[in-house]
Amino acid sequence: MIPKFNVGWLSRFRPFAEGAVDSEVMDILAFQVKMPRGRTRGKYPCYFCSAFRAKGVAVSVEIGGVEHPLGGGEIHAFSKDGDVFAAPDLIYHYIRSHGYRPPNDFMLALAEGWEGRVNGSTIRILRELVENAPRIEDRVDAAIDLIQVASASSADWLSEIVKLPTCHPYVRKQVESALRLL
Ligand SMILES: [Zn+2]
Repeated sequence: MIPKFNVGWLSRFRPFAEGAVDSEVMDILAFQVKMPRGRTRGKYPCYFCSAFRAKGVAVSVEIGGVEHPLGGGEIHAFSKDGDVFAAPDLIYHYIRSHGYRPPNDFMLALAEGWEGRVNGSTIRILRELVENAPRIEDRVDAAIDLIQVASASSADWLSEIVKLPTCHPYVRKQVESALRLL
């Protein structure tokens, strides 16, 4: 799904909001950074870790004993009203290491768009994208969004979809590896 709002693309040249963030939000973000969407070929560094250098620092986070490099993808949040937010996966690091506090609407959507709390039309749109999005990368991203918003009801459906002979091998590989993270 095409995100409507962008959050957390911080710049070292501009101030940002600071404050405490609920542990539930951090748990949801930790789950999300394991399967970033909108992946890029390069990795964007953190410039706040390198205040006196022009070059940023590559950052990663350890989640459940596994190191996840950040800066090469984004995470999504789905509100009950159907709004979709995108944020760089670096947002996890910005919050944990630099005290960033994202906007309340974004944090609310993160908590709402989580395991069965999102509305049915969002799930229908995501399933449609998994099957028919013109770009195969968008099919993978929609599958991961689906795992995020409703993993319990989507895992079986996705497992069947990737078995179909019409499923693109790239989609099959990416979705199967995302399902293994559940
Ligand atoms: Zn940093």
